[in-house]
Amino acid sequence: MSAEAPLRPPAALLDILNGARRPLLIAHLSPDGDAIGSLLALGGILYRLGKDPILSCQDPVPPNLQFLPHTDRITAAPADEVDVVVALDSSDPSRLGDVYQRGRYSRLPLAVIDHHVTNTLFGTVHWVEPAACATAEMVYYLGETLLAPEVGPDWMANELATYILTGIVTDTRGFRTNSTNARVMALVARLVAAGAPLTTITDQVLETRTFDLIRLWGRVLQTVRLDEGVISVVNTQAMRKDLGGLVRPESLVSFLLGAQEAYIAAVFTELPDGPVECSFRARPGHDVSRLALELGGGGHPLAAGCTVKGEVEEVRHTLVERLRQC
Ligand code: AMP
Ligand code: MN
Ligand code: MN
Repeated sequence: MSAEAPLRPPAALLDILNGARRPLLIAHLSPDGDAIGSLLALGGILYRLGKDPILSCQDPVPPNLQFLPHTDRITAAPADEVDVVVALDSSDPSRLGDVYQRGRYSRLPLAVIDHHVTNTLFGTVHWVEPAACATAEMVYYLGETLLAPEVGPDWMANELATYILTGIVTDTRGFRTNSTNARVMALVARLVAAGAPLTTITDQVLETRTFDLIRLWGRVLQTVRLDEGVISVVNTQAMRKDLGGLVRPESLVSFLLGAQEAYIAAVFTELPDGPVECSFRARPGHDVSRLALELGGGGHPLAAGCTVKGEVEEVRHTLVERLRQC
């Protein structure tokens, strides 16, 4: 591990946040722990700076993140009198969902805070940091720059440290990704010292799943195939008909990459309205983000995704061929 420099938010972003009165913060649809953690953390920072932030996300907070304080403040409802929009953990505008598309916010300044290498730079001000392990890590540096000078060294009091650590644990899968470096681990120590409950967070984010999800894994795994290093499964609507609205098999794709014979893993999920959601993972030395971007999605070299049209087994057949070359 080398001693990576701290992350520095650009002045233009600090200006736009300092000048905001009622900022609308939006996390990506199907939110994960980094989306929700970044949203709650930046909301808390801006609130403590005397602003009136609105926290929004098109989709509900998943059950395993509801242990976080104040998730009830996250809404999908349109907001009025907004003066700035902030997109979090979102690599393109479609990730913001209806909250942004229907809200007539397009004439407002849009600040983009994200760590996806595939970010399409769709805002008016951007802070895109592919070296950050999570958007929540970037939000920490925003707090250190904006809030610490105002309220002193205890600026992470209350829930901020918990939110930030939740984002980091999620996106590093418990400090196991190659984005986990000395800078990240030093920050984790500060977050734990500030009171973030590491054990609760790792339990909730990495180890907690419903019985229905385990049943879905059982069905989906029956479709597993290994095609010259690419391991894949399909998840159809029929497999989920008695599973109470459950759609995604969550971390199954990372589990699949554990196959010794595989260098790429893929899950193909038939969505309720027809298209196929594709989730990719790769071992170091490969890059699935370029294929995901080409197909209208995005992500990181080792973890990316996209949504495409087609019949689910045909999509698997076509994309496994492409993935073999990644
Ligand atoms: P997932 O496989 O859903 O855990 O996603 C892996 C990575 O790819 C995450 O960083 C996501 O933000 C990104 N990603 C997944 N689906 C999409 C999509 N449709 N568009 C853009 N990025 C995506
Ligand atoms: Mn995310
Ligand atoms: Mn993220």
